[in-house]
Amino acid sequence: MTTDVGSRYARSAEFFERACGVLVGGVNSPVRAFKAVGGNPIFVERAKGATVYDVDGNEYVDLVGTWGPAIVGHAHPDVVSAVQKAATKGLSFGACCAAEAELAEIIVGVLPTAELVRFVNSGTEATMSAVRLARGATGRSKILKFVGCYHGHVDALLVAAGSGAATFGVPDSGGVPKEFAELTLLAPYNDLAAVESLMTKQGKDVAAILVEPIAGNMGFVPPSFGFLDGLRSLCDKHGSLLVFDEVMTGFRTAWGGYQNVCSVKPDLTCLGKVIGGGMPVAAYAGPKALMEQVSPLGPVYQAGTLSGNPLGMAAGVATLRICEEEGFYDDLAQKSKRLTEGILGAATGADVPLQSGFCGGMFGFALSNTPVRNFDDAQTCDHDGYARFFTAMLERGVWLPPSGYEAMFVSAAHDDAAIDKVIAAAGESFRSLAS
Ligand SMILES: *Cc1c(COP(=O)(O)O)cnc(C)c1O
Repeated sequence: MTTDVGSRYARSAEFFERACGVLVGGVNSPVRAFKAVGGNPIFVERAKGATVYDVDGNEYVDLVGTWGPAIVGHAHPDVVSAVQKAATKGLSFGACCAAEAELAEIIVGVLPTAELVRFVNSGTEATMSAVRLARGATGRSKILKFVGCYHGHVDALLVAAGSGAATFGVPDSGGVPKEFAELTLLAPYNDLAAVESLMTKQGKDVAAILVEPIAGNMGFVPPSFGFLDGLRSLCDKHGSLLVFDEVMTGFRTAWGGYQNVCSVKPDLTCLGKVIGGGMPVAAYAGPKALMEQVSPLGPVYQAGTLSGNPLGMAAGVATLRICEEEGFYDDLAQKSKRLTEGILGAATGADVPLQSGFCGGMFGFALSNTPVRNFDDAQTCDHDGYARFFTAMLERGVWLPPSGYEAMFVSAAHDDAAIDKVIAAAGESFRSLAS
């Protein structure tokens, strides 16, 4: 017998049916379709603080945080009023506004190698532009990325499969010509020896190595000791640029980004998510000598009608002004620690093997007996188990990412009661898995 959960999500189901008539798969970003976990997607009516409310009147403790941006909690009054104030003066000018420099100054002030910033509208645009800049600046064509790292839906970066074959990439998506994919070299995450061997052979053609300094798109996979340092040395040795894709980790794992934790200095940094506070804002940044290659100062072309728009800038500045307060990231890390320890305890109590980790306001767990160090490991986790856990948690009022290949996010608005609710729900949900 299945319990009647249909009525619990009835309005969401109606909205989804309607959406499917006119939107591809009913969604505007694939993971939202719940394909990996089954069931229909939940439609959100509103979100406030740590809570998401759906159209059926259910409420959830949110551990997705709009995939990272909601670091100060949803609809924070300071952020909302900053956006409202900006909106009354016009939504977009397609011309310069003062808030652009204000947000850029915050970024330049905290990222060690960032001297100039260019704002764009999505993480995808940031990594795409960073790759173009790296190619323009070095005069080289190839890039090296890691299997399981996601850098947005850029042609050259949608290459991730090709199990074992760490030589020439195989396109992961339809529509990516193999000639493009061939310019992308692949190595397993945390495998410095594989990178070294690729660079020894092809380093002179490699414009950049792109890496998520903590991999957050195959679960939560931290860099192993010496990995990022090793990438820095190999880039220096071969004259390639090191690009940190901190679209997820930037201002999420620490003030600035994970580069301020690991003390490895990238040439270019990509940011997104948190720096827009929920608005479509992203950026790439680096030293003057490099960034001056970008138009209008240099030959690498890149532009955007809505880039640096006043609403996005206002939301970003207001969000980061809260994040920069003393103790903000320590407090977030405390919450992540309580959550991961609580969830681990709940799993252990139900005899479910679990791996977990956190950094600042980012954490993750994987249903696995052994630590997850790369994409191969991530694939061997119990993803069916995760799907059932996801559904059980949803029924108990906890909103998890609808895929076992995702990191999770906590916000300043997650109080003890919210965290206790998650841990209690995890206990029941893990027991329901085991039975
Ligand atoms: C989310 C993400 C992107 C893509 O950003 P979008 O704004 O979705 O285009 C790129 N890189 C990383 C590491 C991300 O987590």
